[in-house]
Amino acid sequence: MSQLTVGFIGLGIMGRGMARNLRAAGFPLYVYNRTASRMTELADSGAVATTSPADLATRCDVVITCVSDTPDVEAVIDGPTGVIAGMRAGTLVIDMSTISPQATVALAARINAKGGSMLDAPVSGGSEGAAKGTLSIMVGGSDVDFARALPVFQAMGKNIVHVGAQGAGQTVKLVNQILVVGNALAMSEALLFAQAGGVDVTKALAAVSGGAAGSWMLSNRGPQILNRDWRPGFTIDLQQKDLRLVLDAADDVGVPLPGTALIFQLYRTLQHAGLGHEGNHALVKALEQLARIEINSNPS
Ligand code: NAP
Repeated sequence: MSQLTVGFIGLGIMGRGMARNLRAAGFPLYVYNRTASRMTELADSGAVATTSPADLATRCDVVITCVSDTPDVEAVIDGPTGVIAGMRAGTLVIDMSTISPQATVALAARINAKGGSMLDAPVSGGSEGAAKGTLSIMVGGSDVDFARALPVFQAMGKNIVHVGAQGAGQTVKLVNQILVVGNALAMSEALLFAQAGGVDVTKALAAVSGGAAGSWMLSNRGPQILNRDWRPGFTIDLQQKDLRLVLDAADDVGVPLPGTALIFQLYRTLQHAGLGHEGNHALVKALEQLARIEINSNPS
């Protein structure tokens, strides 16, 4: 196992599980989180808390970022106390957030100009995958950097694919997001139809989950819908951030995505209703409002 010293910036829903798995795999680990109290748990398991991304970067061979949106990644990497301000020649920066492919290429150029290198390595698999170390990781960047980072990825994920040059990882992540929301809409329509059709929705879910209609979304979020448990693995607000990236990128290449555009509008109605902090499976609420019925797994 490599003795790479790893830094992790962004201990949110995803980052805290990923960082925990790096520590469990034996990597010397430094962490930074904007809200400092979120570093305590990692520090208790042997990671070292730092005071800024620059402070962290001075001490690490590999610096991982997993923060919310494009401007947030730009701030933690290229801000006044960002990674670039602290890194040394040879530092490998790996951004595992989901952000704009174009902004990724621009950030990589700034890092390369300072003697560092960058991989974009967004993930899929939800909070469960982050906690269990079973994420899918789609990586853009050079062969050399990918080979250097592989042991680090293997501590966090299972399906690790080098998909192309810098920026390609983010493009493939947008492919992933088109599939995720399509599955969320299909699940929502199917469960609503089951309810309206008068069948037991719990039995309906059990009957269809293992066949050709099965999906990660249905198996993991279907039961949450039946329990009316809207706690987020992935919030509606972050889902909308990703759909905005998808629709912008689709506009750039001139491809129509009518289904994805519709789902973006449905999520917007939920944001207007103040539900942006709920999980993306709460998409079903937009359809419930249209149908004026509610899914009920405990029929009396
Ligand atoms: P989250 O729980 O909201 O955590 C966001 C993290 O980013 C927090 O640590 C937050 O710090 C930090 N952050 C945000 N803006 C920042 C800024 N300007 N400067 C410094 N730190 C900042 O989000 P998440 O669900 O972990 O998602 C993180 C990334 O992974 C996103 O790009 C998301 O699209 C992607 N992703 C998420 C999932 C999922 O299922 N959740 C799946 C795949 C990919 P504070 O603690 O101070 O707020």
